[in-house]
Formats: sequence, structure tokens, C-alpha cells
Amino acid sequence: MQRIYRCELTPEEYVASEAQRQVRPELVCPRCKQPGRLHRHGVYPRGITTSLGRIVRLWIARFRCGACRRTVSYLPSFALSYRLVQVATLEAFLAGAWSRRDVQAWEAVLKNYRRRMAMYAAQVVRTIGCAYGRAPPAPPRLWSWLKKACGGLEPATRRLVTDFGITLFQRYQCHQPKRS
Ligand SMILES: [Zn+2]
Repeated sequence: MQRIYRCELTPEEYVASEAQRQVRPELVCPRCKQPGRLHRHGVYPRGITTSLGRIVRLWIARFRCGACRRTVSYLPSFALSYRLVQVATLEAFLAGAWSRRDVQAWEAVLKNYRRRMAMYAAQVVRTIGCAYGRAPPAPPRLWSWLKKACGGLEPATRRLVTDFGITLFQRYQCHQPKRS
């Protein structure tokens, strides 16, 4: 299972400080709800883009639950699940910051992300309903609405995964709680 945890670092700072070593698991296993059973279970690598548009390799912390024996990995919130470009670059692209170097470097990929978000917007709107305190928007206005409701792409993504097990792009099995 994959969780997204709030991380204030940039990808570069995460790499330089080996921040995967500082990750603390939740007190309760998100799959079986047993307390105090998550233990370190290695790391795995993934790539992410930097603020200059380069790619760096990150290590993602993984834990294993001694009760249900499932693993839980903790993705820092500057990263998107299964997507190479970091959150800040996508957010800048969506805001029209065309002159940024990272936006220019990944423009074709970012257009693809935006297309994917547009295709999935109706499903996100149906899923969240009125959970964020206001009537949900028409799908084309989803992004500007979420920005106001959650404060930005990073908290929006984190909340969608935590509260509903979805991202702005699609629903992934790794975000789903244990099926009963
Ligand atoms: Zn468990």
C-alpha cells in the first residue's frame, strides 16, 4: 500500500538529507488498523524531476506490518504516484508559468498530465461529492475549485489519496484500504 505523507522538502533536499531515513510510519496500520506494528522494511528507488527539470533518484521508505504482513510505503508529498514530474512543476504549468525552466523541459509530459486530469475530472467530482464543504464544481472547473478548497496541488493530492483513495489522474489499487 502507498501513503502520501506531508513533506516540506524539495526533491533535491530530500535526496541530500536522505530524508527517507526520517520517515515515521503511522501509529496504526492503514490496512489492518493494528497499532504499533509497522517496522522498517527497506527502501525502493524512483525517479522525480527537480526544480531545474532534471531527474534525480529518490529512495522511498517502506514498512511492513507485523500483524497483517502487508507493506506500506510513504511517498513524500512533492511527488505524484507513478508520475515522474514533481507536484510544484505541474502546479506551475497549470497556473500558466510557461517561462519556468522545469515547465519548459517537461511541457509535452505536462500536457499529457493535464489531458489525463481532464479525462478523470468527472470521476473525481462524483467521488468527493460535498465532502469538502461546498457543492462540487462542474468537471472542467475541478482544478480551480480544489485549489481553493484544499490550498494547492500538494494538499489536494494528499487529501484525495487519504480521504478517497484516488488521485487526480486515476484510481490505483495501492491506495485502497484492505478489502473486507
Ligand atoms: Zn497491518
